[in-house]
Amino acid sequence: MGPDRALSDLPGIGDRVAARLGGLGLVRESDLLFHLPLRFEDRTRITPLNRVRPGNTAQVEGRIVHQAIRYGRTRMLLATLADETGQLALRFFRFYPSQLKLLAEGRRLRCYGEVRAGPGGLEMAHPQCQALGENESPPLPESLTPVYPTTQGVGQATIARLVAEALDRLQGGEMALSDLLPGRPGGINLGDALSTIHAPAPDEDLGALIDGTHPAVQRLALEELLAHHLALARMNRARSRQRAPELVDPIGLGQRLLEALPFRPTGAQSRVIDEIRADLARAIPMRRLLQGDVGSGKTVVAAAALATAAAAGRQAAIVAPTEILAEQHYRTLSEYLLPLGLEPVWLAGKVQGRARAEALEQLAGDAVIAVGTHALFQKGVAFRDLALVIVDEQHRFGVHQRLALADKGRAGGLQPHQLVMTATPIPRTLAMTAYAGLDISVLDELPPGRKPVTTVAASQQRRAEVIERLRLALAERRQAYWVCPLIEESEVLEAEAAETRSRELARELAEFRVGLIHGRMKASEKQAVMAEFNAGEIDLLVATTVIEVGVDVPNASLMIIENAERLGLSQLHQLRGRVGRGSDQAACVLLYKPPLGETARARLQVMRETTDGFLIAEKDLELRGPGEVLGTRQTGMLRFRIADLARDEQLLDRVADMAATLDEVGADQLIQRWIGSAESFVDV
Ligand code: ADP
Ligand code: MG
Repeated sequence: MGPDRALSDLPGIGDRVAARLGGLGLVRESDLLFHLPLRFEDRTRITPLNRVRPGNTAQVEGRIVHQAIRYGRTRMLLATLADETGQLALRFFRFYPSQLKLLAEGRRLRCYGEVRAGPGGLEMAHPQCQALGENESPPLPESLTPVYPTTQGVGQATIARLVAEALDRLQGGEMALSDLLPGRPGGINLGDALSTIHAPAPDEDLGALIDGTHPAVQRLALEELLAHHLALARMNRARSRQRAPELVDPIGLGQRLLEALPFRPTGAQSRVIDEIRADLARAIPMRRLLQGDVGSGKTVVAAAALATAAAAGRQAAIVAPTEILAEQHYRTLSEYLLPLGLEPVWLAGKVQGRARAEALEQLAGDAVIAVGTHALFQKGVAFRDLALVIVDEQHRFGVHQRLALADKGRAGGLQPHQLVMTATPIPRTLAMTAYAGLDISVLDELPPGRKPVTTVAASQQRRAEVIERLRLALAERRQAYWVCPLIEESEVLEAEAAETRSRELARELAEFRVGLIHGRMKASEKQAVMAEFNAGEIDLLVATTVIEVGVDVPNASLMIIENAERLGLSQLHQLRGRVGRGSDQAACVLLYKPPLGETARARLQVMRETTDGFLIAEKDLELRGPGEVLGTRQTGMLRFRIADLARDEQLLDRVADMAATLDEVGADQLIQRWIGSAESFVDV
């Protein structure tokens, strides 16, 4: 068996292609084998056009009987495909001249795509099309077709060929690959598992391959989870060798802060504050994730931690992802901290000129607590001795930004303590693995007196009724939000929609004060509007999803969410969390545009039935899958090639046992194989 060659040494792979493959994490020949399909396509059959069903993916064959270009907001190509049994529309929102030719009347085609209900019957949007000769019908593949992750300049066909060639060399004994897992788990060895995944035989259980219960999938998922487990264990060991300043509060400042609050901390708050104090008192840097549903009172916990650092004579910073949120923290924390003689320093992007120079001077000098946005991360900001960093709503921050701030405290061989706060409830199984480098605290108790928000779903056709209900509520001096979420993938259009809506509502509800807030407004304008709403000078606030995170106006007790059918569960939950913070019974109306799809119906149902963030997160996981729940793309959290935490939860127990049986060399090889040197791995 041959050595594991660099891809650039393989015939037919030039430097440019090799560099691009490197971007996919493909460097050695064996990496190709672990470049696993994202999914499979079933191109083994042709579905007659009268048998295609909306929501299904199908392969169809027929002749173009009509072609037209439609002019709406954009140009669109519409073609009609026909076979002996029926017709199907093919729709292209973007197209090239070559496609006009490919889809010309009279041409025969084989198409593959997802079927959906269109305005004039069933259609496929942007199907993959293959031109066929007059009497031509190329043979169908006998088995599933794997679909691989690709990259700019290296397409599906090239990747599939490279993987197939590598697989040939493995099967022919030209390439070495050691099976590192003891005892042939699942009764299948590594080589066979890889062959099955990349080139499933026709008689393979295709359903099991697709839903991931196939032993080949399970075998590889187990190995991948094991590799992550080993890597995280190493990271934790490295962390335990790092040093942090010991922060103790000899004068009981944190206690005084809690005693001065107008309410008593909940049991959960007290418990978490104790956990954090214990961490801070140790010479090992704290890396803790605080999960607490919206409204569970994370700010008080943060304040107690800040006070502890201050009492220890060191600096602490709290960072929020938007100016609105940061400003709100600044206000609340000032209220808590000023009576203790602690004056927070404020820094955000809009702080410029003299004010900025002053803030910077204080941060480098005797400031004790800093509150701000990512402006605190920027170059040119230096701290005297930053010992604690709190990051709120970490989903909005990249891992790298978080690290940049931690860097600012890296002095004299000491690391700052870090607390990450998130309102996104993460199911236990996901949290353990995705945040395995972090200790987790949970605020699993809401402050007393909260009544669950009553939630109803209403079709847009009942809008007039909803407005009347709103009028009654506003007349009782209650405040309300009207949310217009993203209808198009564009902040500009979203802002326009909100502007239009606020004008309409101002007309319809002329006796009330209607405000507007959206992401295109200047930070200062947004803050002014929020301040007015806070002060009760605005009755109804029309908003885009900018209010999703963290906004706290207790008197607001009614929320109407338009286009609710388009939002994911966790987003709906975050939005709804803006009401029900005061003592009034709060209500939320989910306005939707019928007809509802199956998933949308299920989501609205969940929202009506529960306000429990964890339950909602579990449902979200069921309906969407873990990648989307965690929002991996933005955060650079764990992403798996084949393992699926929702599906493979039961593998996690075996992973721990197996890890104990591996030596360092085997562990090295596994980590290299599945994770490589990829710095996409969370460095906590
Ligand atoms: P989160 O950031 O977790 O969504 P906040 O910290 O903004 O929640 O707190 C939500 C609201 O609950 C605030 O108005 C806060 O003053 C209030 N609050 C927090 N803790 C308690 C408590 N123990 N008892 C009563 N009210 C509380
Ligand atoms: Mg908050």
